[in-house]
Amino acid sequence: MKHINIGLFVPHSGCPHCCSFCNQKTISGSARELKTDDIIEACEIALESGKVDPDNSEIAFFGGSFTAIDEEYMISLLKTAKKYIDNKSFKGIRISTRPDCINAYKLNILKEYGVTAIELGAQSMVDSVLDINERGHSADDVRIASELIKEYGFSLGLQMMTGLMGSDFEKDIFTAEEIIRLKPDTVRIYPTIVLENTTLATKMQAGEYSAQTLDEAVKLCAKLLLMFRENGIAVIRLGLHSGGNVEEGYLAGAYHPAFRELCEGEIYLEKMLCALKDKDKSKAYQIEVPEKSISKAVGQSKRNEKALKNQGFCCKIKGNIFLSDYEIKVKEL
Ligand code: SF4
Repeated sequence: MKHINIGLFVPHSGCPHCCSFCNQKTISGSARELKTDDIIEACEIALESGKVDPDNSEIAFFGGSFTAIDEEYMISLLKTAKKYIDNKSFKGIRISTRPDCINAYKLNILKEYGVTAIELGAQSMVDSVLDINERGHSADDVRIASELIKEYGFSLGLQMMTGLMGSDFEKDIFTAEEIIRLKPDTVRIYPTIVLENTTLATKMQAGEYSAQTLDEAVKLCAKLLLMFRENGIAVIRLGLHSGGNVEEGYLAGAYHPAFRELCEGEIYLEKMLCALKDKDKSKAYQIEVPEKSISKAVGQSKRNEKALKNQGFCCKIKGNIFLSDYEIKVKEL
């Protein structure tokens, strides 16, 4: 049995904010209001499949502003989901919301109805970036909400975006450093993509915003992945999910259906180049990588193998079952 999250999208059509990147309709594929019957249907289908591990599966309300929706409606959704927690079909409920929509009153409600994990859309920890992208909250709101969530004993997740308007490599690294200081249990990283009918699309068309390229985002996110890993923080998502009509509303930005794999490939490339730095290019080398990561080390379309060759190295990449993630060994052949 596997870890299965029942992902339920809660659109917030009455959201008073106007985040530069947001077009909920495009991201969700549908702006239809989530009904309690939808929750029952999704849970029953998953349970009937016989694949749900009740100790490791959650009901997840996504949409980014769960605690900002009408309270009565929010409680009706939670009450329906809680029945499945009470009868031990799932281990808990996960929600995602805005940092400025968290307070003791709301956390008490979430506790009462079986919520176990709260994810905050921090997006950036630089106030000027939050302002220019019209997020409507500050970096301090993220800090205060994060501390409160942890005090109440919830699992804390923080989401960040890279390549937002007004941001750059250093500011995105700073955001990751600040997030690490808050010690979340999980992190999601989303490179900004420009969707139709958003402020970013207008700014880009006016020449006032350039989206991060795929290459830039991969290099940056590879670094972020290692930073979080070194600090024991699980990156549970890297890059937007495919589907949900993202491709249809997509105008620009670093979107790739296998984005995480590209970033992990970049980590292996950097590690291999670093290990080969002082090696004699007239000799051939065997590079051992973890067995399960051979394809990442070779890179999509053999990108890494070609990069090593272009740098003048003759290398053979081979699996080693005793190596752990991102560990490599170089031997002369
Ligand atoms: S991303 Fe921003 S604009 Fe979109 S729903 Fe969330 S808070 Fe509202």
